[in-house]
Amino acid sequence: MDLWVTEYQTPSLGFTCKVKETLAVEQTPFQFLSVVDTEQFGKMLLLDGMVMTTEKDEHIYHEMIAQIALNSHPHPEQVLVIGGGDGGALREVIRHPLVQKGTLVEIDERVVESSKKFFPDLACSFASPKAEVIIADGIDYVKSQTNQFDIILIDSTEPVGPAVQLFLPEFYQAAYSALKADGMIVAQSESPFFNADVIKMVYDGIGSAFPVTKLYLANVPTYPSGLWSFTVGSKQYDPETILSAPEGPKKYYTKDVHQAAFKLPAFVKAIIGLDE
Ligand code: SAM
Repeated sequence: MDLWVTEYQTPSLGFTCKVKETLAVEQTPFQFLSVVDTEQFGKMLLLDGMVMTTEKDEHIYHEMIAQIALNSHPHPEQVLVIGGGDGGALREVIRHPLVQKGTLVEIDERVVESSKKFFPDLACSFASPKAEVIIADGIDYVKSQTNQFDIILIDSTEPVGPAVQLFLPEFYQAAYSALKADGMIVAQSESPFFNADVIKMVYDGIGSAFPVTKLYLANVPTYPSGLWSFTVGSKQYDPETILSAPEGPKKYYTKDVHQAAFKLPAFVKAIIGLDE
């Protein structure tokens, strides 16, 4: 008998993958965590039944949440990742030659430990001398910081459970204070096809705190609709202006992709109130 794993991306749409082996299932203090080995995408991490990352396409999301800000900021020395317990975003951060320290604040230690066991290519970042992993609520952590970071990446689950407050204007105000005078924030802001309301909430929330606010897109096959958005807020620099693009093992990000990511389809512009 075949075994399949399905993420119900909407009440009437499922994304289903044939499973070779179930590697882990557990109820953590925060969410239901599962790891399966799939035919199509290799190992897959799911939280509360939602695909978080897979071996075969993780590089797209992790390169795109990190490289845009890293390469448009002149001195991305101190970088904070909120969430991101699989380690992929942190891996991109510490690979950048200008980064002095990557701090990751993940609320669920079981995500970190599961990634160490099943996703060594992502969790390799945890052992870096440039990395610090803190198990805590990112909301409380950011509120405790002032003028500390050049870049903050919000690599959180969707706005449910412990992640809800990571999508609110008050959090973006706290992030603004935690950033240095020329800092940048990037938040994953879900799917333009299925989550227009979340995109508008994040774009307006970041826009209420930052003078420069832009949306960019990437194709992530295993995320709902395959089209994913990121919202960047900047105190000073234009995230579309590439200041550095160090060589390195990138499989999706290029300078051209950096520029193209900000070219939005008309329906996405309409979501955030931009004219054609
Ligand atoms: N790339 C994925 C996406 O776009 O949905 C996110 C991956 S990462 C595994 C999401 C992480 O955010 C989870 O490990 C979850 O535990 C963490 N998280 C959720 N709320 C949090 C909070 N308030 N503070 C810190 N981490 C949080």
